[in-house]
Amino acid sequence: MQRCVGVQVPIPAPRQATLFYKNVRRNRNATDNFRFSTLEYKRPDLEAYRAKLTEWKAAAEQAESYDALRALMLKIDRENCELFTQYSIANIRHTLNTRDEFYETEVAYLDDTLPTLGGEEVALSEAIASSPFRPDIEKEFGKQYFVGMDLQKKMFCEANIPLRQQESRLTNEYQKIMATAEIPFDGKTLNLYGVQKYFEHPDRAMRAAAVRAYAKFYEDNEPRLEEIWDELIRIRNQMGKNLGYENYIPVGYLEQSRTDYGEKEVASFREQVRTFLVPLCQKLYDAQAKRLGIDHVMWYDEKMVFPDGNAEPAGDDAFMVKTAQKMYHEISPETGEFIDFMIDHELMDLQNKPGKASTGYMTSLPSLKAPFVFNHTIGDMQVLTHELGHAFAGYMAMRSQPISDYYSESTDIAEIHSMSMEQFAYPYAEWFFGDQADKFRFAHLQEALTFVPFGVAVDEFQHICYAHPELTPKERTYQWHLLEEKYMPWRKYESDPFLERGGYWYHKLHIYLYPFYYINYTLTTMGAMEFKKKYAEDKAAAWQDYLKLCKTGGSRSYLEPLRPPRSANLHRAPWGY
Ligand code: ZN
Repeated sequence: MQRCVGVQVPIPAPRQATLFYKNVRRNRNATDNFRFSTLEYKRPDLEAYRAKLTEWKAAAEQAESYDALRALMLKIDRENCELFTQYSIANIRHTLNTRDEFYETEVAYLDDTLPTLGGEEVALSEAIASSPFRPDIEKEFGKQYFVGMDLQKKMFCEANIPLRQQESRLTNEYQKIMATAEIPFDGKTLNLYGVQKYFEHPDRAMRAAAVRAYAKFYEDNEPRLEEIWDELIRIRNQMGKNLGYENYIPVGYLEQSRTDYGEKEVASFREQVRTFLVPLCQKLYDAQAKRLGIDHVMWYDEKMVFPDGNAEPAGDDAFMVKTAQKMYHEISPETGEFIDFMIDHELMDLQNKPGKASTGYMTSLPSLKAPFVFNHTIGDMQVLTHELGHAFAGYMAMRSQPISDYYSESTDIAEIHSMSMEQFAYPYAEWFFGDQADKFRFAHLQEALTFVPFGVAVDEFQHICYAHPELTPKERTYQWHLLEEKYMPWRKYESDPFLERGGYWYHKLHIYLYPFYYINYTLTTMGAMEFKKKYAEDKAAAWQDYLKLCKTGGSRSYLEPLRPPRSANLHRAPWGY
């Protein structure tokens, strides 16, 4: 199962804190019939935009009434949405065809220039935050609006701009090393994705050989991967110091918009995983060994859940999309309307094509209130539920929230939408897999649970590396080995010295590219399991809860929407009432 690299928030530099959006239906006729392929792209004039930010700042300071300030905010929001939409179009088209030089140039220009607007953005935000009409803004749009603004301010630092640029050069290099991998195997030259397909091969020796070939690629590239990681730790820790912290960790948390929990809570969650979930996963792998008739599930056996192979879709890609459309109509009126919207406006691109970037994401075109889903394979039902779960949440939030700053939620909430949608699809697995539906459900659930210990290890690894920059590269890798012993005691590589000494972590692109994102997948697995339980008990109530969470968008922080209603809270209090 390929984990999505997260919900992409395309504007790279300081959050667009002033994205107000109200008059969305103004272009109704113009936008109702659009198709993604024929949308016009025009390079945004960022120098003119820079001047506008300064003008808006002055206008915000001079606003004489809340109405005047509000009207200004809506205007700013509309313009920001237009800019964001153009940025998204360029980015999507660039990933659709990485060989297209036009969009490559456009994306490079936008990526280089947008961060330089940070100073003006922050100044505008500050003008709004210190306005005498702040209480009116909070009354209408909620306190979360200024929480976002505070985050933006906390994260901005002039001295970090060149460090950001160095960081992106290094992460691009990591991506390039991965994207250009050429692994000789089975008489062919394969990329990383190609060799991973053999991890589910029915022949055990073949699986073991594939894993060896895969590991050899990382071993061969280890010297450069060590250097890149070492540099990233140094650069990111410097960013943290420039912002007045001991190291990068608090900045990483801010970047994930974590405002109501911190390192201590995350550490306690990891400990709960070790105590409660690790033993359950051990049992699952013991059972798998019995099914497969082997002594121990080696790493190259982990994906082989059944001796006669895993569930295969009952039809081709077109069949899967059609079936998904039918399922979404069955789930609810809202999901039915949503899937038709996605198909009619060409907002999904799921097939492998030459030149297409090997990634998966959901992003949005805010001025069209349209999500976009990108992938390079349908493979199984996963892409049609996980990525479309993200897209459905975006679709609902864009139609429910008054301001575009609330169109997308923090990433720890976002993965609840996607992972819960995977669970809501279980009753329809027969439509996709025929008589293999049970196999699909079992393997999917096992994967969802056994993933969590790995996920928290990825999180702890990053904490160790940033908190102990004095470790040598080899010592860092050995820390990964220790984490495997702690969270994945079943993990055995069978005499592969590179993997045995901890080499497995190098493949995890999130560690290089998206610091401290990974814990989200594990926290949200818990959220999705809660929805799974509720769905089994009371389908209609669970769906209404889910809908509410989707509509909430980014208007609340993590803990707030997850808190049970007050009455339920009283009911649950262990001391009783
Ligand atoms: Zn996701």
